[in-house]
Amino acid sequence: MHFIKNLKEPIIALATATGVAAISVIRISGTQIIPLFQPFFLGKNPEKFKSHSIYLGFIIDENGKKLDQVLVSFFKSPKSYTKEDVIEISCHGSPFIVQEIISLFLRNGIRLAQKGEFTLRAFLNGQMDLSQAEAVADLIAANSEKSVQLALDQMRGGFSKEISLLREELIHFASLIELELDFGEEDVEFANRADLEILVQKLLTKINALKSSFQWGNVIKNGVQTALIGRPNAGKSTLLNALLNEERAIVSEIPGTTRDTIEELIHIDGIPFRFIDTAGIRNAEDQIEALGIEKTREKIATAQLLIYLFDAELVSMDEVQKDLSALSLEGKSILVVANKIDLTELASDYIREGIMGISAKEKIKIDSLKQKIFDLVLSDIPEQDQTVISNLRHYEALSLAEQALSQVENGLHNARSGDFLAMDIRHALAYLGQITGEVGVEDLLEHIFSKFCIGK
Ligand code: GDP
Repeated sequence: MHFIKNLKEPIIALATATGVAAISVIRISGTQIIPLFQPFFLGKNPEKFKSHSIYLGFIIDENGKKLDQVLVSFFKSPKSYTKEDVIEISCHGSPFIVQEIISLFLRNGIRLAQKGEFTLRAFLNGQMDLSQAEAVADLIAANSEKSVQLALDQMRGGFSKEISLLREELIHFASLIELELDFGEEDVEFANRADLEILVQKLLTKINALKSSFQWGNVIKNGVQTALIGRPNAGKSTLLNALLNEERAIVSEIPGTTRDTIEELIHIDGIPFRFIDTAGIRNAEDQIEALGIEKTREKIATAQLLIYLFDAELVSMDEVQKDLSALSLEGKSILVVANKIDLTELASDYIREGIMGISAKEKIKIDSLKQKIFDLVLSDIPEQDQTVISNLRHYEALSLAEQALSQVENGLHNARSGDFLAMDIRHALAYLGQITGEVGVEDLLEHIFSKFCIGK
């Protein structure tokens, strides 16, 4: 954690975006902020503020000079975002006023908040767990409808709940096994091995489903890397423009002028697609074009989805196939699209191959193309209510938990002793706990204590 500063100190920061706006909101959080705020508010005495109320007044400086007329909202601990006392000052949205107000409090005992510190405090004070705190960060950075939804779900704790349920069942078994260990020599078996095996298998299935949702989650969050490839003059830039609906890529009549790659974000049904426009596929004659081709190969390597575009008038089916076989396309989804159907009827052999025809220039069938792109990538959308993980840290923790559980499974098959099983279970618990920020051992002790108080 890079927060070196004291987390008990009162903090202040601009909560809204910087720049000119109708209003700006400045947020203050801390345990003793009212006495710090009071000398600089002309209005109702802050000592008498009620929680969740709004007060009109002036912010005044040390000399009594009015800086701005403001609305002040007060949230009393623990019923606030950070669970500390929180004051929100809604002032006029001028960077100058904001600066004046923040500087005033910086001179008078409140320090500037670190990045994410309000949310960090919310986490540390038990307002939310780690995955929820991460979701807040995701939400702020979210750039599509679906990713906002995903972040909101995560923030509400859907994901954490699933993980907690898994952990609880496992804790139950761990405590039974720990109890066996307490009996040492006596060779008792509280934890039914067959039941434990069933649970472990159930957990592994669950973890697997969560893990495989990661790809989908990642897609929603970061977008699908899509490479638009094809020979020079196939109409790639024109298509990109048509998809974007604006003239951003430069369209030209001379083959091979799209020299650098351009990346554009296009949303189709709420899913972001990152389109990489590339220089054409063909043998390089000059240095700059060669770079373009190198880049094409690189982009193909990193793309999840390829759209190969060709000129329906000039390029034959054989040539299309030759182009495709020249590239390494294993494991990629590829959509082969004939362009310029405004100039020519789409030949029947293309239609037989299921190749769709469009006109990028005349904007014919662009919507069907979008639909196809969407369908191709998202044919395996999980059920609506299924939990989706979108965070690499969670994915890694799940993988480690999976490994530990496989060890438990092995141990059961080989009738290993309780202390080995207990160790592997503890590992699995710790990894699952990492996701929500809970740590395993205390849980375990508490559980043993509360459930097995057998009077000894
Ligand atoms: P790129 O090299 O693949 O990026 O191709 P461009 O997008 O630069 O297009 C090359 C030429 O083909 C330009 O003159 C475009 O106007 C033209 N073009 C692109 N799409 C179409 C189309 O659907 N129909 C017709 N008639 N011309 C097109």
